Amino acid sequence: MTFQAPKGTFDWMPPRSETVLAVRDALAAPARRAGYGYVETPAFEDTGLFSRGVGESTDIVTKEMYTFTSRGGQSLTLRPEGTASVVRAVIEHGLYGGPLPIKLWYSGSFFRYERAQAGRYRHFSQVGAEALGAEDPALDAELIVLAMDGYASLGLRRVRLLLNSLGCKECRPAYRAALQDFLRALDLDEATRQRIEINPLRVLDDKRPEVRAQLADAPLVTDHLCGACKAYHEEVRGLLTAAGVPYEDDPRLVRGLDYYTRTTFEFVHDGLGAQSAVGGGGRYDGLSEMIGGPQLPGVGWALGVDRTVLALEAEGLLAERAGRVDVFAVPLGEEARRRIFPLVAALRRAGLAVDMSFGGRGVKGAMKAADRSGARYAVILGDRDIEAGAVQVKDLTTADQTAVPFAEVVDVLKGRLS
Ligand code: AMP
Repeated sequence: MTFQAPKGTFDWMPPRSETVLAVRDALAAPARRAGYGYVETPAFEDTGLFSRGVGESTDIVTKEMYTFTSRGGQSLTLRPEGTASVVRAVIEHGLYGGPLPIKLWYSGSFFRYERAQAGRYRHFSQVGAEALGAEDPALDAELIVLAMDGYASLGLRRVRLLLNSLGCKECRPAYRAALQDFLRALDLDEATRQRIEINPLRVLDDKRPEVRAQLADAPLVTDHLCGACKAYHEEVRGLLTAAGVPYEDDPRLVRGLDYYTRTTFEFVHDGLGAQSAVGGGGRYDGLSEMIGGPQLPGVGWALGVDRTVLALEAEGLLAERAGRVDVFAVPLGEEARRRIFPLVAALRRAGLAVDMSFGGRGVKGAMKAADRSGARYAVILGDRDIEAGAVQVKDLTTADQTAVPFAEVVDVLKGRLS
């Protein structure tokens, strides 16, 4: 019997897996430089956290959660997203009593029982950032700029920012009612009709052409914003422009989670086909109260690591540098292995990336491995070298070879590679 990774999941293997690490680092780096602290929360939580936090009517909660009963009889769910967990942790640790805003970032695995397709998986990885405790348009703009800087630092040129405001509890109800009136008059199937009553904004997100065609004249949220929301949104837009970040207004941008208010945004990449969102986020001023916490406004994003790797691939930017080393050691025989092993350890301790030939390969096989390793230098040790107290240092790009006394190898290689 053999096993495969479960449907909708896959393994990142070298050399592509190197890019996963690079993407995670690059997406988190701007937030870290902006004072966001690292938070790590459990991969599973009380089911209620997500049903209340993400929203009972969302696809995530109704169809996509990995929910199980623990041996102790508690209903737990593998996290489908990160924001609810971060807000839960902030409340649990009472951080809202300290300096505000609280700025946190995270990185990890998320789980959704989705229809698996290219770019849409059941296990995926995100880097996220959240800022809680301040309702300040500069914070919304800061997060957006940080995400765009992260994508740019990877060399991506085709990430576009879509921007919208979903209003607040003052202006959203009137918009919702206007949208419902409009939608009820359309020719829609029963499931969509039900959605009109529960979560009408989500109908705007329908991708089916026959539905889209009917939505052309749908009322737009941006025409229904209250004065405060309009002013807030203008401020966010102005700050983005001032920071040199272009955006596209998208009054139809709604997001799949119920907790969003005011600023919402998505980062899309045009080389990815249907699953074009490489990241998204927004403001969620009511979330803390929804999960039993104090009033605590917040804004954040989650960027998809897997899709960002696909975007790099689409732009021809995949760096294939898996496990490349500077030096490759080739012992010829058992005594040579015994002597070269501590030399390899010493070279590594000196900060060089070093691999060696294993499995008692002959010189031909070992030199092939040295070439494949991408190393600049091979360090070869045969019986005659042992007698001479030296190793052969071979430059694999020029094939020049020199004998270097054992005691000097670390310094010589460090010097040549610096
Ligand atoms: P969301 O919380 O749904 O807005 O997700 C934020 C980002 O995570 C998306 O823009 C995607 O890049 C990524 N993402 C979400 N769901 C998946 C999935 N099922 N497979 C791969 N990436 C995903």
